Amino acid sequence: MPETSPDISGNLDHIRARIRRAAAAAGRDPAEIRLVAVSKYMPVEFLQQAIRSGHYIFGENTLQEAAAKLRAIQDPRVEWHFIGHLQSNKARFIPGNFHWLHTLDSLKLARKLSDAWDGTQPPLQVLLQVNIAHDPRKYGLAPDSTPEFAADLLQLELPGISLRGLMTIGREHATPVDRSHDFAALRRLRDGIAARPGMDCFSELSMGMSDDFEIAIAEGATIIRIGSSIFGPRPQVSA
Ligand SMILES: *Cc1c(COP(=O)(O)O)cnc(C)c1O
Repeated sequence: MPETSPDISGNLDHIRARIRRAAAAAGRDPAEIRLVAVSKYMPVEFLQQAIRSGHYIFGENTLQEAAAKLRAIQDPRVEWHFIGHLQSNKARFIPGNFHWLHTLDSLKLARKLSDAWDGTQPPLQVLLQVNIAHDPRKYGLAPDSTPEFAADLLQLELPGISLRGLMTIGREHATPVDRSHDFAALRRLRDGIAARPGMDCFSELSMGMSDDFEIAIAEGATIIRIGSSIFGPRPQVSA
């Protein structure tokens, strides 16, 4: 745990101002950009501070860590996003606990997520994770096979999931030009899928983190995932 508390409320204000500026520069409405505060490795108190300053959207990447936070923060205003890789044998923990999943990459996982939905809540909002830059160290669908994957998924007519769009994680050590190129490629992929029949709700683009969210907004991001710029640096972990 970090030794000194970051100024979470101030950091959130600062990020919101940067979102407004980036949106204005791109001729976009900042209200169409959802800010997910990535709270992985951060203590519950930090999330509570964010909630007190009016922020209610959080992203977690492991079930184990998220479970403790979900238990501690039972606030109906909070919207939980699962942004980590998920094995299909863990799918049953998602519906009912999380509102969004950013990392769908297999039909098997999709079926299990839908099977675990009890029908009392809205369906899980789902994004397909795309490995847009073909990075062998990253999870996600190959860009070329993503449209077909989306079509197969639609055919399954799974009631417990709502297919909302695409997500990607930017390349490490990439230049701004490379990032912008990758984000634009994700947007074109989304546009192609959204144009198909039955895909009217396929409008979301989850891309951009602390060091590249302004580029992502310029390229059409509708969801940005920001951790360290809100909560401070994460403790070093070997993972
Ligand atoms: C950790 C993480 C983030 C946030 O990264 P920062 O650089 O701290 O903003 C965003 N997306 C995913 C998938 C992550 O795992």
